[in-house]
Amino acid sequence: MLGTVLDIDGGFKREKRHSPIPQAACNLIWELKPTQMMRRKNNNKHYFTRMSTRKKVHAFVRVRPTDDFAHEVIRYGDDNKSIDIHLKKDTRRGVVNNQQTDWSFKLDGVLHDASQDLVYETVAKDVISQALDGYNGTIMCYGQTGAGKTYTMTGATENYKHRGILPRALQQVFRMIEERPTHAITVRVSYLEIYNESLFDLLSTLPYVGPSVTPMTIVENPQGVFIKGLSVHLTSQEEDAFSLLFEGETNRIIASHTMNKNSSRSHCIFTIYVEAHSRTLSDEKYITSKINLVDLAGSERLGKSGSEGRVLKEATYINKSLSFLEQAIIALGDQKRDHIPFRQCKLTHALKDSLGGNCNMVLVTNIYGDAAQLEETLSSLRFASRMKLVTTEPAINEKYDAERMVKNLEKELVLLKQELAIHDSLANRSLVNYDPMDEIQIAEINSQVRRYLEGTLDEIDIINLRQIQEVFNQFRVVLSQQEQEVECALRRKYTFIDKNDFAAISAVQKAGLMDVDGHLVGEPDGQGFGLGVAPFSAKPGKKAKSKKTFKDQLSSSARKEGASSPVGGKDLDVSISKTQLTPSSKDGDVKDMLLRDRETSNIEPPSSDSPKEELRPPRPSTPPSKPVAFEDFKNERGSEINRIFKENKSILNERRKRASETTQRINAIKREIDMTKEALNFQKSLREKQGEYENQGLMIIDEEEFLLILKLKDLKKQYRTEYQDLRDLRAEIQYCQHLVDQCRHRLLTEFDIWYNESFFIPEDMQVALKPGSSIRPGMIPVSRIMSLGEDDQDKFSQLQQTMLPEGPDSISFYNAKVKTEQKVGLEQRVSTLSRPSLEPEHRGPVSCVLLCAQRQFLRSRWQMHMGSLPYTNI
Ligand code: ADP
Ligand code: MG
Repeated sequence: MLGTVLDIDGGFKREKRHSPIPQAACNLIWELKPTQMMRRKNNNKHYFTRMSTRKKVHAFVRVRPTDDFAHEVIRYGDDNKSIDIHLKKDTRRGVVNNQQTDWSFKLDGVLHDASQDLVYETVAKDVISQALDGYNGTIMCYGQTGAGKTYTMTGATENYKHRGILPRALQQVFRMIEERPTHAITVRVSYLEIYNESLFDLLSTLPYVGPSVTPMTIVENPQGVFIKGLSVHLTSQEEDAFSLLFEGETNRIIASHTMNKNSSRSHCIFTIYVEAHSRTLSDEKYITSKINLVDLAGSERLGKSGSEGRVLKEATYINKSLSFLEQAIIALGDQKRDHIPFRQCKLTHALKDSLGGNCNMVLVTNIYGDAAQLEETLSSLRFASRMKLVTTEPAINEKYDAERMVKNLEKELVLLKQELAIHDSLANRSLVNYDPMDEIQIAEINSQVRRYLEGTLDEIDIINLRQIQEVFNQFRVVLSQQEQEVECALRRKYTFIDKNDFAAISAVQKAGLMDVDGHLVGEPDGQGFGLGVAPFSAKPGKKAKSKKTFKDQLSSSARKEGASSPVGGKDLDVSISKTQLTPSSKDGDVKDMLLRDRETSNIEPPSSDSPKEELRPPRPSTPPSKPVAFEDFKNERGSEINRIFKENKSILNERRKRASETTQRINAIKREIDMTKEALNFQKSLREKQGEYENQGLMIIDEEEFLLILKLKDLKKQYRTEYQDLRDLRAEIQYCQHLVDQCRHRLLTEFDIWYNESFFIPEDMQVALKPGSSIRPGMIPVSRIMSLGEDDQDKFSQLQQTMLPEGPDSISFYNAKVKTEQKVGLEQRVSTLSRPSLEPEHRGPVSCVLLCAQRQFLRSRWQMHMGSLPYTNI
């Protein structure tokens, strides 16, 4: 469509000689590219929402006054917002001549013969004014050398009337400050020059600046871009600001002479930093802004030939940086582009947040009005057109004064506390303190928490949020103290060994101090061949007599005091002494202890399956102590269970011993593996040092290394086999332990029943207890009562049939089933028992039959389970 199109990638096609479009239609509309026009049509909604916050860059053209203005070539639009360029056709080009001869550039204003005053009013005044409200602003002069950039930006420093944007901006800032007595506004300035990609501080010569230690660098942070090392000067009045400007200008000129550099080949950025705090103390917000006034280097393209040495270097840098600026601007103008190449050169990097960022941006393109400069003029106008496509998103830079914020929050806090006090008094709450707690209050909460945990305090009253938080906190404190206490107690009694310390572990094993259960072998890591050392088993074995667990220590000390022990994690029960043994639901604990004491005794009970109730001697006037009675029980009615129990125990111990031996073997293999690996590595490194031999792609190794490889392979195999054995053994041990526990429990339950029957049931009830009688009231444990009324023998045999094929898991299944059934019949049975006059036909079968049946059932079940295991010596 267009005779000349923009090349997005930076450059542009200057002419399109074979355009099929008639010349008359070739007037250029530079404002929008066709693609952009389409996109905006299609995305109207998106466009307008963005437009609400976004703003276009303003682009003005200033024409340098000349006596030889090319009236025929350069024409301004009636609204003074466009420039048309018309070239006469070059007749020498022949009949077919598609040479482009017309261009039209839409702008925000053309400044022809404009005074410095008018230029400032048109270009800069609003930007500066908005800077005082917190908006960043950037004004940039672009154009070929001599076109009037410096004149526009700085002006003639010797003539006040001809002063440029810069001094006028400073004046406006200070004037506006005077007009805003409600704000304390500070002004700072800096002056940066970028020459051949190096940064220079044009104000570094000031006496108080001091030498720059490191070269200046451009730094980015969330607040924006700043130049590290560039001096920034506080100016309290207009005059100081001018002095700084002149100082910078002077340095610019001196540098041009001494360093032989051409000032038109450098970019200069004068920055005014404004910070405005409200004088109202309560206002914690403040605003900051930055005004960048940029005088760019000459934009003319230097002839490719003829430039050499310094000029060539300058030309390269200047062309590069302006071309990068152009690329950044093209990218900014393209709404599809996410990435803007700001970091390609110092100029674009330093201006990153000023180009298309959150600032008000104005471009002044300085051009010559002479026909001779037409090519560069066209180039400058194209740049201006591109700049007009860029949009920015001006936003106020609002910040918060931390100090003021704290003060305000403190005030608010006081108010809220007062509010709370009113609320409390209205709600009839006694004065609640909302201040942070002091040490005494915290100590009180700590004490409350302790009492609560001990059970001496039922509730902790809620007072306020702070108190609730402190209560939780103290729970944590108490918990960690208790942990420490337990650990200290353990450490006082035991020596802890690092489970990874093989040397210490084997030393302890040799010294016979370690439990045979101290599993010293690692779990395989599941990937290839993993070796390691596993934690010790938590269960102490028989040999661990000298190394009792903490729990055992507690048990034995409790026993010495004649009290029940907290075996099985139950609470310490000190209410039952050895001499006061009475039928109690907690007696199990005592018996458990008694049993544990006797587990290792060598007294062989007489082997008999028949119940001994009938042979029992006359009842003594005082019941024997439980330990004595227990011995009797084991020899009489409990003899069979005791025998099974002991057999299971011995199997368990035997398996534990084997596991320990296997563990030691595995550790020995592991050590040997390590040593072999080491030797192999040594051989390998030796081979590598001596040079490797290869034969048809195969590595040649010596016999020693080969043997080591074989040995390692063999050892690994052994390790795996042994480890598998150990795993099997552990499974057996676990299962065996379960059986032993079951036996122990049964033995104690039987003992309990036997003890009660033998010594506590009143004489007149003895008849009912005889075999063939119906019930055992009163002293019979509830679990037994609940089974009355069933055809137990049938039930057991039924269970036996249905359960046993399921394996060891059926034990818990059985227990659960029985419990459920017991629950269902509980109430009915209890009411039955509470009526002694119950008719005989309503009574269940005698409990001794039940006991016998149970016993037989259990025995056969245990034996069958054991039979399914590799060991069958029961
Ligand atoms: P640039 O900075 O673009 O290289 P300068 O601003 O140094 O160009 O201008 C070159 C010369 O032209 C200076 O002597 C300057 O005074 C003069 N000049 C430029 N523009 C104007 C103008 N609008 N009115 C009067 N003199 C101008
Ligand atoms: Mg200049």
